[in-house]
Amino acid sequence: MKNTKPNAEQVWKQFEDIVVPRLRLNIVDRAVYSHLLRHSRLEGKVQLQFSILGLARHIGLSGGPTREAVRRLVGHGALRLVERSKAGHTVEVRLPEEIRALRPYRIESLRAAKGKGTDGGAEVGIEEADFLQTRTLRKAIHAREGGRCFYCLRRITPTVECLDHVVPRALSGRNSYRNLVSSCMECNSHKGERSARDFLRWLYRDGRLTADELRSQLRALDDLASGKLRPLLPATAKAAAKEKVEKEK
Ligand SMILES: [Zn+2]
Repeated sequence: MKNTKPNAEQVWKQFEDIVVPRLRLNIVDRAVYSHLLRHSRLEGKVQLQFSILGLARHIGLSGGPTREAVRRLVGHGALRLVERSKAGHTVEVRLPEEIRALRPYRIESLRAAKGKGTDGGAEVGIEEADFLQTRTLRKAIHAREGGRCFYCLRRITPTVECLDHVVPRALSGRNSYRNLVSSCMECNSHKGERSARDFLRWLYRDGRLTADELRSQLRALDDLASGKLRPLLPATAKAAAKEKVEKEK
């Protein structure tokens, strides 16, 4: 990583349009990431040293939630912890395009963030596409979740990841991006025919999700159903999805 200043306008758009929805950053995560980004990369520095309490003071929050947010951002790969000592944390702050979980779709994302958004005509067909059809389409759903199980939020590896129907297929749930989420095998089998909402509440009662996480995932369910969580597709997958739909017409 070079110590050069990135294009701040582009970084800000990518942050709002891609990083926040895809990593599902909560309000504290957002404040922490944008503050750290502002004082490192936008100043042409890669590394930054800070104390949790100093950082908390700057963003007007208390230490606990700030510490949690730093931990989550490290987990997402938006920050890399270089050192933790009495002097504080030293981290490397990643630009949106350097965050590994978002990387497979980087080029497409950059294009979208540079242009007028993701609602361009290029995405014709995405609403009709069957996301179980091809490997690329399946991968696009996993990438959207940033390598975490949609339900329990644990990090999942390609060997244990599967796609779960939010509305079960038995209840005529579709293979649309609005009805598929990346999930670990355990959640996939535990959920069964329960509704996604009931299952999330069950995970919360079981102590696997915090109240904040439950709230954020319930909100994500609404966003999913209303089409706000579109996976980013590489151009070839877009063409394939479109072609497939046209053939079936
Ligand atoms: Zn899970």
